[in-house]
Amino acid sequence: MNLLKVVQTFATEEQALDYLVKARWPEGVQCLACGHAKVYRIDTKGKTGKVCRLFECADCGLHFSATTGTLFHDSHLPLTKWFAAMALMCESKKGISANQVARHIGTTYKTAWHLCHRIRSAMQEANPDPLGSKGQVVEIDETFVGGKKLRKGVKAGKDAKITVLGIAERSGRIHLQRISNVQAATIRPVLAAHLSPNASKVITDSLPSCTVILPKETHEEVSHKDELRESGQVSSKTIEGAFSLFKRGVVGSYHKLSKDHLDSYLAEFCWRYNRRKQQAEMFDAVAAELVSKKPLPYKKLTREIF
Ligand SMILES: [Zn+2]
Repeated sequence: MNLLKVVQTFATEEQALDYLVKARWPEGVQCLACGHAKVYRIDTKGKTGKVCRLFECADCGLHFSATTGTLFHDSHLPLTKWFAAMALMCESKKGISANQVARHIGTTYKTAWHLCHRIRSAMQEANPDPLGSKGQVVEIDETFVGGKKLRKGVKAGKDAKITVLGIAERSGRIHLQRISNVQAATIRPVLAAHLSPNASKVITDSLPSCTVILPKETHEEVSHKDELRESGQVSSKTIEGAFSLFKRGVVGSYHKLSKDHLDSYLAEFCWRYNRRKQQAEMFDAVAAELVSKKPLPYKKLTREIF
């Protein structure tokens, strides 16, 4: 569903709430405490006009709503605004800044920032198959993010840069992850978790660690200079394309991206990239995650930094 469709389909809080109830309990509402399937519905309207729909368990008497204990928990923002922000984040290939979201849905920056982080935490891959598991060609490369304006001087800038390792199936899925250095001991566990031994070929640039880790039979190296001249099979264009899209997002959309939240931005980027051919299902997928994950209070997000 694109933004226009989302705004049209969920024009009212009731419509949005109906959708969330179905997303959370596809088989019908169940009590959060005892799992009882018989619940009474109580609708109330707050001063702000926000619809509050509670359920009361016929067995244990628990009062709960469709958003209780989920990422929507305790949010005073209308669901229609939540839904618009979710659609915006699904649609923006390079990502969208909290500032832009704030302007689109008419909230403060702080509200939009918290909202975006909660939606972002729903856009994270849960136990994906390792890349190349269906025998695809896989590319591995590293890139550097940030570090330009933190401190003055080339050396200081270089020190402040963050290394990101990228693994990509050719015309398939990607995985980007922050690494502390490019040594074999650091890269090995990442590849063990995210690279399948079934990959028919693994292409890397001349990263020495990969030569040590990867089996010789399937490993091929590409030098970035040669690549410009040749347009053969051995190239790392897929992962470089993904890196460049992410970096354009970092510079163009986020302007300054917090180093402390880089991991969640990377995960969001991969989640969206890996679903680029399933645009229509993205909104439903995000909504399903939002109602199945635990709340993420503002304090928790900001406390992690310090
Ligand atoms: Zn109950």
